[in-house]
Amino acid sequence: MIYPTTVAAAEAMFTAAEADGVIITLVSGYRSFATQAQIHDRFVADLGLPAAEAVSAPPGHSEHQTGWAMDIGDGSGACSFTTCFADQPAATWAAANAHRFGFIVRYPAGSEQITGYSYEPWHLRFVGVEAAADIAARRITLEDFLEAPR
Ligand SMILES: [Zn+2]
Repeated sequence: MIYPTTVAAAEAMFTAAEADGVIITLVSGYRSFATQAQIHDRFVADLGLPAAEAVSAPPGHSEHQTGWAMDIGDGSGACSFTTCFADQPAATWAAANAHRFGFIVRYPAGSEQITGYSYEPWHLRFVGVEAAADIAARRITLEDFLEAPR
């Protein structure tokens, strides 16, 4: 399951976005090992292993199995799980405000070498408000933060 802490933070964030006229939807939250295995197998079948590993974690390694991550969508339904999501209202709002609710955009553009994953403007990870604010202010990845916390 998604932890109650994550749920409460997500609900507060969705409500604040809505007050700004932006509808953020929850597209994917917690995944079991079996679900992640199915998803990963499908990517490997479609793309081959190297390309699949840039976009999908093997079972046991997905943040979606931690209960701290979620994928968001835009109320319009446009561009789900594609890079053009970055230009949708939900994504621009989240990029500017998610840290106030303890979330970070976990796999930012240009950080593929650090995170190991392609840019995913829809994948948010809960790290708590203090860490999220620092990560957002310094424009760093979670990896950088864990190596050099303020
Ligand atoms: Zn995700």
